[in-house]
Amino acid sequence: MALKLYNTLTNQKELFEPVEPGKVGIYVCGPTVYKESHIGHAVGPVIFDALKKYLSYKGYKVTLVINITDVDDKIISEAKAQGVKTEDLAKKLTASYFDAMEKLGVDSVDHYPRATENIDGIIKLIQRLGETDAAYVAEGDVYFDVSKCADYGKLSNRRTDDQQETTRELSGSGKRNPADFALWKTCKTDDEIGWDSPWGRGRPGWHIECSVMSMNHLGETFDIHGGGIDLVFPHHENEIAQSETATCKPYARFWLHNGLTRVKTKASSGEWKNEKMSKSLGNIKQLSELLAEYPAQLIRFFMLSTHYRRPIDFSDEALQAVQKGMMNLYRLIERTGRLAGEDVFAEKCSLGLITEAAQTDDDKKFAEIIPQIQLQYLEALDDDFNTARAISLLYDLCSEVNRYFEQNRTRIPSDKNAQVLAREGTRMMVDLGQILGLLTGPVETAVESDELTSKLMELLIELRKEARQNKNFELADAIRDKLNDINVVLEDSPEGTTWRKE
Ligand SMILES: [Zn+2]
Repeated sequence: MALKLYNTLTNQKELFEPVEPGKVGIYVCGPTVYKESHIGHAVGPVIFDALKKYLSYKGYKVTLVINITDVDDKIISEAKAQGVKTEDLAKKLTASYFDAMEKLGVDSVDHYPRATENIDGIIKLIQRLGETDAAYVAEGDVYFDVSKCADYGKLSNRRTDDQQETTRELSGSGKRNPADFALWKTCKTDDEIGWDSPWGRGRPGWHIECSVMSMNHLGETFDIHGGGIDLVFPHHENEIAQSETATCKPYARFWLHNGLTRVKTKASSGEWKNEKMSKSLGNIKQLSELLAEYPAQLIRFFMLSTHYRRPIDFSDEALQAVQKGMMNLYRLIERTGRLAGEDVFAEKCSLGLITEAAQTDDDKKFAEIIPQIQLQYLEALDDDFNTARAISLLYDLCSEVNRYFEQNRTRIPSDKNAQVLAREGTRMMVDLGQILGLLTGPVETAVESDELTSKLMELLIELRKEARQNKNFELADAIRDKLNDINVVLEDSPEGTTWRKE
């Protein structure tokens, strides 16, 4: 099967082939660390970490790079406002970003380069551009001359004339063209953070750092450049212009852009709308808040439940809907664990065991469904990395295995073949989920489990069991009904009774 990805550069799905056979390089624009990260900052890393995992599953050796912009006008002014040093603020926020990434299972990033650690490389690239006359000094700052790049605008489909409107405020700074952008900014005051350069003490512009850090780790031409759709212009357009002008080689081959996160916000008219997160709307959902409120596995699940190119509509209800689906998967894992008496996570699914165990016609039908869903799942991921469709197939597989459990209620406790089929079906679901870094841990990490509640529920289930054994059905039913009243549902199965919150 062949992977196709939607390339913003060509506006179409293209067959993915890496520059170097067997190897893939991915660069993703990371955060500018001036404020605590919000959920939008985690979407890109979760998607590209999952994409790396999928490419690795397909046999590629993948290098994933996410940069940290740790020097920038916004960081400088925020540090000033807080009365702290720029570097201290950046260090603190970088640490909290890493902490969130770890919780979200973003564990495949090979390099997190920081702008401040790449100043030499940045100066060298600007000098290289200066040699071709594409970089010039105006009033102390160094600019890139967009007229030196014949195909400027090819990613965003904007012509330089269109940009005069948006960049008008910058005219009068001695620039050759209004669309020219800064490569190096000189320090305006002595106490500003800066580095010595041929153009005086200063700091890099935002765009140039990504060109330097990506090419440093992945080479001058690499496979995939990712980022949020809001970065297409001017950030990514400018990265292409300066990189290709300097190297005379194609820069990134595939440009993948993820949708932005929108939050359900009440408009002044009283209507609820999905709007982009913004400070002025006061609807920014911080990552640390969210991680304190919900299990990290759920947030990852939630982010991958929408196709990466679509906007993610965040709301508590949307998260809870995904939680319901995810918990169905975990309940099946628990159910299978009780039956198999062994850790479902311990072994991979064996299609050979499934074929051997399927003796009856009904078993054979069920045995066929498992590899079918596996194939559809991999096809969904090959189709522009459609994780939303892939996750819906996990739910389908979960329903099929649950149906098998129900249809074989009496047989399963004693029939080894039926046990193998149920267990391997569940293992397939786990294996497929794990390709995307889902269903990786035991259920405890995915559910906010309160130990006291679990123990009390065990006690109630035991009392109800005793009541039934003593033929006191009135009491047994009362326990079940009263729990129902507080939205706790008991489910009886041949392997015992479980409970869940509605
Ligand atoms: Zn960038």
